Amino acid sequence: MQLLIKVVNRLPLTNWQNMSSMKPSTSASSCLLVKSLGQLVVLSSLCCLISGYSERDRVHDLMSRYPLIDGHNDLALQLRILHNNRLSQIDLHNVSKVATDITRLQAGHVQAQMFAVYVMCGAQEKDAVRLTLEQIDVVRRMCTEYQDFELVTSAQELKNSEMRRKIACLISIEGGHSIDSSLPALRMFYQLGVRSMALTHTCNTPWAESSSKLYSVYQRHNNSLTPFGKAVVEEMNRLGMIVDLSHTSWDTAWAVLKHSKAPVIFSHSSSHSVCNHSRNVPDWLLHELKKNRGLIMVNLHSKFISCRDEANIHLVADHFDHIKKVIGAESIGIGADFDGAVSFPRGLEDVSKYPALIQELLLRNWTENDLAHVLRRNFLRVFEEVERVRDTLIAKRPSEVQVPLEEVQNPCRMVLRPPDRRGLPSDRSPSSRAQQRPKGLLILALVLLLSSLLMMD
Ligand SMILES: [Zn+2]
Repeated sequence: MQLLIKVVNRLPLTNWQNMSSMKPSTSASSCLLVKSLGQLVVLSSLCCLISGYSERDRVHDLMSRYPLIDGHNDLALQLRILHNNRLSQIDLHNVSKVATDITRLQAGHVQAQMFAVYVMCGAQEKDAVRLTLEQIDVVRRMCTEYQDFELVTSAQELKNSEMRRKIACLISIEGGHSIDSSLPALRMFYQLGVRSMALTHTCNTPWAESSSKLYSVYQRHNNSLTPFGKAVVEEMNRLGMIVDLSHTSWDTAWAVLKHSKAPVIFSHSSSHSVCNHSRNVPDWLLHELKKNRGLIMVNLHSKFISCRDEANIHLVADHFDHIKKVIGAESIGIGADFDGAVSFPRGLEDVSKYPALIQELLLRNWTENDLAHVLRRNFLRVFEEVERVRDTLIAKRPSEVQVPLEEVQNPCRMVLRPPDRRGLPSDRSPSSRAQQRPKGLLILALVLLLSSLLMMD
């Protein structure tokens, strides 16, 4: 068996890509090519027959060479819901009631996972920033307390972690409400290791629009991407943080695609032509994404695959086929959304099941080169390009743009002002000083009245 593999490997045409792209100029070379192809097919078949080398083995071999980088996983949300972030209560090698743990990530050939730090929209205008910090904390703890994980913050670190056979953790904020319309907050999240942010979740922010109409906040004043929203995108470009458009409205996505200097991603969205859910991406937007050199990482949640509560692996593959037809395999990735959604197709229920999807795509004539791109090369390319754009902006100073107060409409927001010439305390707004004046006049009038009454005695 080993001998046969060696013979196959020593054939003059070992690279499938080279074979398909060769253009023999003479009939002799055509004959040679056909003969070599024939030899290869026969020998490959013999290999399979003798060794039992199956499609399944081929998938595992492929995924060992090109282990997956997945764009979206909500394990951190489940740690909050099920365990109140008490990591000491669980063993992350085997976790029940969730779709993600170390044992299954390894079985699924997942080499890097973008872990979402998600805070529900109800926390907007309340304690979204605190909750986001707590979710970052739990991902950082998870990825530093377990030897199998490694927290990474650059494309190079991601590649290095593969050599060390670690599962790389990337941190991604899911929803712009987490920064409370503050660029300094965005920068501090970057310092904590956040390398991607979805501009919205299911609620509008004061500066960007969601694909969902679930919450009615910031509807009237929103114009898809306000000037402050553009400043957020510019600052993310400057920092080297990947802009994520999953969950934004199509108008906002279009505006960002026009404004961003760096490629962007849809970290967990599927094709709107196959399932017309508002979370999915229409073909016209896919074309814009391709122009931006961005990436759509296909979501496996049944609702976005079949537009129903049930789906199967063939329908998932239909999304991949369609997107490939529209913009090519160089713009596709996988962002399964495990532990963030409730129903997944049969055979794709947890993070150990990715090989079944890759096997289905191989059966549909996706080449190994296509799949190498889908599994990891495309994401690495986007991450590296985002870092290159950051490097070109090195001379740019941190943005001091502030969201206009009338746009945030937040009663919890404290307004700080610089001291005025009379040295009044800095936290007194002009309006509060204006309120002081009538009171002062009233006190003065009372004092005058009392003193005149006393003088009357
Ligand atoms: Zn999501």
